[in-house]
Amino acid sequence: MPTFEEARKIILDSVSPLGVERVSLLDAVGRVIAEDITAPWDMPLCDNSAMDGFAVRAADCAAIPATLRVTGYIPAGGEVAGSVEPGCAIRIMTGAPVPPGCDAIVPIEETDGGAGETVTVMGPVELRQHIRFRGADVSAGDLVIQAGTIIRPPEVSMLASFGKAIVPVFRRARVAVLSTGDELMELGETPLPGKIVNSNALSLAASLKELGAEPVILGIARDNRESHMEKMAEGLKCDALITSAGVSAGDRDFVREVLAELGVEQRFWKVDIKPGGPTAFGVYGNRPVFSLPGNPVSTMVTFEEFVKPALLRMMGHRRVIRSFVKGILKEDVRKKAGKLNFIRVSITVENGRYVASTSGNQHTAMLRTMVRANALAVLPRETSFVPAGTEVDLHLLGSDVEMMEF
Ligand code: AMP
Ligand code: MG
Repeated sequence: MPTFEEARKIILDSVSPLGVERVSLLDAVGRVIAEDITAPWDMPLCDNSAMDGFAVRAADCAAIPATLRVTGYIPAGGEVAGSVEPGCAIRIMTGAPVPPGCDAIVPIEETDGGAGETVTVMGPVELRQHIRFRGADVSAGDLVIQAGTIIRPPEVSMLASFGKAIVPVFRRARVAVLSTGDELMELGETPLPGKIVNSNALSLAASLKELGAEPVILGIARDNRESHMEKMAEGLKCDALITSAGVSAGDRDFVREVLAELGVEQRFWKVDIKPGGPTAFGVYGNRPVFSLPGNPVSTMVTFEEFVKPALLRMMGHRRVIRSFVKGILKEDVRKKAGKLNFIRVSITVENGRYVASTSGNQHTAMLRTMVRANALAVLPRETSFVPAGTEVDLHLLGSDVEMMEF
């Protein structure tokens, strides 16, 4: 049985980025760029004014106040008509190209406004002031976005500035989600005693959507070989397959057996964690197959810890594992020694520090404590008692914990 860390390494060593596709710039938001992007031209493309004001020769303003003759006007987007002659100035707006002869811009606030045919410069003028020079931001040929970068609004801005309407991104993973069990009903059916709604399919699909992967819900495999066989064969056509339940040692747990029959090579079964102990992992060619335990909390925790990093890698991300933050445990927690425990906690920020309170009953069938949780606290294997006040590793679950009400 691998340790948690070994299991995660086995999984991450088994997957690699999917192919590349070209999508329109806005569809690339949140995706990972698949190629290095170099600048096709200088930015800015020409020397231009950083202020609304007057284009001057600095030497003409050596003694101030200096009165200059206004000989022209260049608005933003305008074209340069003439040059700045000695003793003259050209009215210029922010972003407009700097005319020949000009070696400084005087902001309008540092002049008398120049309403008539002349302008009087009141403040001292330094050579090159308020000019944005060609290539000052980026030079043609510079690497501006590295392959593997997530496309956020700043990257969109950079790509747009260089005319990249279509960008290469790593493909989204299409991930099959299969639930197993005779006790399952589809969403919308009226619950009966002994039956439960197939909520795992929905929580897994929701997690996949959050990640930017594409869920393919296969429905329910009933507790017999044929039903498993049929659904699993379908699932193995996707980039990855996630099953839930049927992976323990019960006499109707067919998941591993049928996957093996279909040619899935098992890499491990069982990990030293709680919840999620019975998790199995295998590969079908280069496609990962995750067999997660069925209790909804176990399914979600193992998705978070094992499936998510793998899918992030497949979708081109370089950073695939969330870093831990430290926090203080608010109450005593008892656990069995021997397994790494992920307990559901509700964390708050107190005086700039995370404080974690257990969200209640930690049985893996207790969904409500998962709903109340916004982090998992990781409790070491060896201990059976973690007293209040202990500093623990926290694994934040996407939430608004760092936000404040206002
Ligand atoms: P199993 O490992 O097949 O014994 O499943 C363990 C438990 O997980 C079952 O008793 C159900 O309560 C629960 N479970 C299994 N599949 C699902 C599902 N698709 N949605 C919600 N709960 C499930
Ligand atoms: Mg079952």
